[in-house]
Amino acid sequence: MLKRTDIVVVGAGPAGLTAALYTGRAKLATIVLEKMGPGGQLLNTELVEDYTGFPSITGQEMAQKFEEHALEFGADIEYGTVTEIYSEGAEKVVVTEEGDEYRCKAVIVCSGGQATKLGVRGEEEFAGKGVSYCAICDGAFFKGQVLAVVGGGDSAVEEATFLTRYASELYLVHRRDEFRAQKVLQERAFANEKIKVLRSSIVEEIGGDTLVEWIRARDLKTGQVHQMPVGGVFIYVGFSPNSSIFREPIEKDELGFVITDDKMETSQPGIFAAGDVRHQFVRQITNAVGDATTAAIAATKLLEALEDRERTGAEPGVSAEQEAEAAMKAVTEQYP
Ligand code: NAP
Repeated sequence: MLKRTDIVVVGAGPAGLTAALYTGRAKLATIVLEKMGPGGQLLNTELVEDYTGFPSITGQEMAQKFEEHALEFGADIEYGTVTEIYSEGAEKVVVTEEGDEYRCKAVIVCSGGQATKLGVRGEEEFAGKGVSYCAICDGAFFKGQVLAVVGGGDSAVEEATFLTRYASELYLVHRRDEFRAQKVLQERAFANEKIKVLRSSIVEEIGGDTLVEWIRARDLKTGQVHQMPVGGVFIYVGFSPNSSIFREPIEKDELGFVITDDKMETSQPGIFAAGDVRHQFVRQITNAVGDATTAAIAATKLLEALEDRERTGAEPGVSAEQEAEAAMKAVTEQYP
């Protein structure tokens, strides 16, 4: 089915719902495309304690509030898995796996990303059979069992603490001595007597019969390998962006995160990006929401500039692509 709208937002996580809230407030027809449910990674987060004004709120509740707020300003949230984005003249085309095609004037890509795999023996074989990437989703299946969490970032340390609700004991296995997780999260985890921290250690293999029964971990300082009985392994070793949906080449960093300018515009005119898909220093809800605000306002200004140029008439010999580029240049000149 072909649909026309002003703005398509790809992804209904905190960034996408915020972008839609702002373009909706600017009275632009906005369609948000989401492949799962609105909320993105919030749906896999038990508690959010670092969003200004909300000392403690569940991920589910925050997702619901974000969704309601975007809907209030007129956004349409539709289910669809975006497979391709490209430009045709001044139009942007967004194609979904379901066979729908959306034509619009600007796209705001807030497609997030997914958990990185550890890449060790047994990880793939035992996925869903004791290997998990989501403590909130799967933690309750492991009541009374010994668990392992791999990683040293915010996710690993935060989810290790969460998993002690169910685990009898938990190994937090990190490849270095220093953790990159926020100090407050580290303090909480290290004070938890169920958590045993294995520093400078890597998990080399995950094994068992039909379900996970053990991990083999190597101490990188001594070289010793220990096989430890565990019922489940939760892997939190980073995140890779959903950024392979662009037909035309788009500027990305070496890890595939999309590079934008300060207006959140990508190297493709009229395509903006915000949230975890974007190259940035941190990936927090607060900055995803801030960057989505910038992207939405910049996209709104672009549409205004395009309308102005339409009203005054295009110069002869100027293509639609050049028109769009000139309109964005006008925005930059007006808001340097
Ligand atoms: P992250 O910060 O990139 O941390 C990944 C961790 O995995 C690092 O400790 C890294 O070790 C380790 N690692 C990477 N590859 C590995 C491998 N092959 N084997 C073993 N360990 C490996 O990822 P994240 O924790 O998922 O967090 C992603 C972003 O979300 C961050 O910006 C984070 O701040 C944010 N976040 C925030 C919150 C919160 O504020 N409450 C919660 C969750 C996530 P090294 O340290 O040695 O590189």
